[in-house]
Amino acid sequence: MEVTNYSINKKLVEKSRLSEIDMDNVKFGRVFTDHMLIMDFIDGEWKIPEIVPFGNLTFHPALLSIHYGQSIFEGMKAYRTEAGKPVLFRPDLNAKRFAYSAKRMDMPEISPELFTFCVKEFVSQDKEWVPEKEGDSLYIRPFMFATDSYIGIKSSETYRFMIIASLAVSGGVYYSADLKVKIEEKYVRAAEGGVGSVKAAGNYGASLYPERKAKEEGYNQIIWTDAKSHEYVEEAGTMNLLFVKDGVLITPSEETDTILHGTTKRAVIDVAKSWGVKVEERKISVKEVIEGLENGSISEAFGAGTAATIAPITEIGFRSNHYKLDPENRTFSKKVLKTLNDIKFGRIKDENNWLFYV
Ligand SMILES: *Cc1c(COP(=O)(O)O)cnc(C)c1O
Repeated sequence: MEVTNYSINKKLVEKSRLSEIDMDNVKFGRVFTDHMLIMDFIDGEWKIPEIVPFGNLTFHPALLSIHYGQSIFEGMKAYRTEAGKPVLFRPDLNAKRFAYSAKRMDMPEISPELFTFCVKEFVSQDKEWVPEKEGDSLYIRPFMFATDSYIGIKSSETYRFMIIASLAVSGGVYYSADLKVKIEEKYVRAAEGGVGSVKAAGNYGASLYPERKAKEEGYNQIIWTDAKSHEYVEEAGTMNLLFVKDGVLITPSEETDTILHGTTKRAVIDVAKSWGVKVEERKISVKEVIEGLENGSISEAFGAGTAATIAPITEIGFRSNHYKLDPENRTFSKKVLKTLNDIKFGRIKDENNWLFYV
């Protein structure tokens, strides 16, 4: 992918904090790099982005995004290949999704070229922070929020785009190894016509209470079902949901606008297809899942997302029944995880040009 050159301003720290970090005690999402990127939208245009020392922000109490939720984000990772080079994995998909999210939330679009330029400049500035160990990475969080100071429901006229990054090293695993999920029939993540396919901040706020309830019942995550009938499965928490059924990879279709267009799921599908595995993106009913678990035709179930990559599901709860999935059967998910890691860490040829060198 070509990167267009835009202007950028930099005000850098005098000394990096990196040498002070105890890498064995890093919790996910808590340790941030030396810098952050800021780009403001004022008078109808994006101003020149700036890389500045990481630090607090100060805002007016009537900040529009706090009150009315015009706030979107992305999540992506930088890896270090075995040759020591920092890379991003398919950042073009994040760039496109960010523009899609902005449009739906009536926020100004950032062109995928400008988005990618900002991510590249930022990661390149703090590249020393991209960890070296296999499986470790730097989690990158681009986000945009409304910055008008105004109490009244309207679209903001000013916005801020930012990028921050935090260490994702093995001490701070994102999901427990044992993923027990509950098929949710009461609460809803996304309804057709809503913003479920968008990485909008409010979606996550709304999911916390149902998730707490599920945790109290002993689950780690929720399998969301459709808002209308609760008959179809949609996503696993903040991951896309995939199954292997009779050797076919099946996953809920993105045609309803209730499912996040996941980059990890896309990579899993692309890899599966390249192996000649049959893939079906379609509606999947709760009934089909339960029957498949009962008669053994569903051999694997897993979540896919940037944070965890692949999170194998060990148990699915539906009403008062619990269905276990045998870890011995995880042939496909293990193989696909290994292949994705082999690509990200530069061990096998990147045939599709998915790696983007920073
Ligand atoms: C971010 C996200 C995903 C996964 O998307 P990736 O691009 O693979 O990280 C899936 N579902 C939801 C609801 C998400 O927010």
